[in-house]
Amino acid sequence: MIKELLKFGNPILREVSEIVPKNEIKSKEMLELLKDMRDTMEAANGVGIAAPQIGVNKRVAIVTINNKLNILINPIIVPITDKTQGFWEGCLSVPNMRGYVERPKKIMVYWLNQQGEPQHMETNSFLAAVFQHEIDHLDGKLYIDRVEDNKKLIHNDEYIKIENKEVY
Ligand code: ZN
Repeated sequence: MIKELLKFGNPILREVSEIVPKNEIKSKEMLELLKDMRDTMEAANGVGIAAPQIGVNKRVAIVTINNKLNILINPIIVPITDKTQGFWEGCLSVPNMRGYVERPKKIMVYWLNQQGEPQHMETNSFLAAVFQHEIDHLDGKLYIDRVEDNKKLIHNDEYIKIENKEVY
């Protein structure tokens, strides 16, 4: 079911979400939550979504990797370099805005899939930023907190104008 996407300012987006116990991973409630997250993300044309964005403070996120949806339960990120890279990020909970955010360039991500099996992935691409953005949601953080230069928090209409002028 398509749920209301909570917007920044909603306190639920600012809470640290709870770890999903192993025995809840295959529960009916989890299946329903995952379906709602997917429906809501697809309706909004997002590439990722975290459970708090639809009002559920559990450590669950969905990230699109090579056009395939990956379900991340209890994900953990370990940066494996001091180098950072920046992207213009957007967020379904911060509509019509873009912000330039620097994050660790190379990370390891560990998570459980829908069957409760441990997964991991090393990435140093845009995907690294997507993982970090979604997992930030589970810690009550939004990308706007990480925009260091407020001049680089801009409206989408202005982002479209500069998009082709800067190379990232
Ligand atoms: Zn977001």
